[in-house]
Amino acid sequence: MSYPIKKIQTGINNPILRNISEEVEEINQDLIVFCHKLVVLMYQNKGVGLAAPQVGENIRVIATSQRDKKKTKDKFLGETIMINPKIIEKSKETILWEEACISLPNCTGMVKRHHSITVEFIDLKGKKQTKKYKEFNAVIIQHEIDHLDGVLFMDKTVKIAEKKKNKKE
Ligand SMILES: [Zn+2]
Repeated sequence: MSYPIKKIQTGINNPILRNISEEVEEINQDLIVFCHKLVVLMYQNKGVGLAAPQVGENIRVIATSQRDKKKTKDKFLGETIMINPKIIEKSKETILWEEACISLPNCTGMVKRHHSITVEFIDLKGKKQTKKYKEFNAVIIQHEIDHLDGVLFMDKTVKIAEKKKNKKE
C-alpha cells in the first residue's frame, strides 16, 4: 500500500477530515516515506503538528513537535512521529489554550485540554513507546489525535467572557 501525499485538506465539513482514521497494520518503506513527508509539510506550513488526514490519508499517524513554550520564548525541542497513538492517561487538571489549525486557515479559538497526558504509540522502527507530555506539548498531541477521530478544534472551542473594558477609555 502506498501513501501518495495529497494537498492539505481544509474545511470544517471536509469528509476526509471528518472520517475516523484506520490503524496502521504494517510499517513498510512507503509508510516511512509518508511519515517523513508529513514532518516536512508540518514545517513548510509553519505548523506545530500535522495529522495524516490533513494530507488526505485516513490512517492513524501524526507528526508532532515538542517545544518549550513560555510567554517570551518558544524553543524548539524536536519532533516525534507517532503511529497508532493512544492517550492512556490524562490529568484531571485542564488547561485553556488558543489553538489554530492548518486545515482551518484564519480560525483560532480557545480550547480546554488535559494539562498532561501519557501517550502510547509505535515509532518508525516499530517499537512501542510510552511518553508523558504536559502543557503546550500535550495540547498539540490532543489536537492531532482528535484529527484521527474526525474531530476539529472548532468543535471544542469555549467562549471566554469578554474582559471588562477599562473604565477610562
Ligand atoms: Zn489541526
